[in-house]
Amino acid sequence: MRSFTPEAVISNRPSPAFKGYHTDGGKKSRYTTYYERNPFYRAKAIEIHGLVCTACGMDFESTYGFFGAGFIHVHHNKPVSETGPTRINPEVDMSVVCPNCHAMIHRKRDRTLTVSEVRDLLSKRPNKEMRLTALDRKGPA
Ligand SMILES: [Zn+2]
Ligand SMILES: [Zn+2]
Repeated sequence: MRSFTPEAVISNRPSPAFKGYHTDGGKKSRYTTYYERNPFYRAKAIEIHGLVCTACGMDFESTYGFFGAGFIHVHHNKPVSETGPTRINPEVDMSVVCPNCHAMIHRKRDRTLTVSEVRDLLSKRPNKEMRLTALDRKGPA
């Protein structure tokens, strides 16, 4: 016999957290569209600029070992949404950045930061040891 206890009804409801996940997923695909636009330019940008974040110095291979090797985001210095279809010189029009710095660059829709502006924010952060301290407090997982 089917159960109609309050617990059974509640468990069949879509979870609010699941709805939130869908909203975030939509935002994520915007970034994917950006750098999958032209794989040739992406490869060229990495060949020229390397695999270390030009804003914060994050290197995925030295941080995550072999699993992080070859990972980096490629950013268009002039937003494609502003320029429309245009010729790109990967040397001057593209930058390599880690996902954190990339997110800060695009955090405000109406004001895309430059890589050097992110570098500037990092140099002025109030507590450079904050991240390390938070990890230390947490202890081993
Ligand atoms: Zn970075
Ligand atoms: Zn970007």
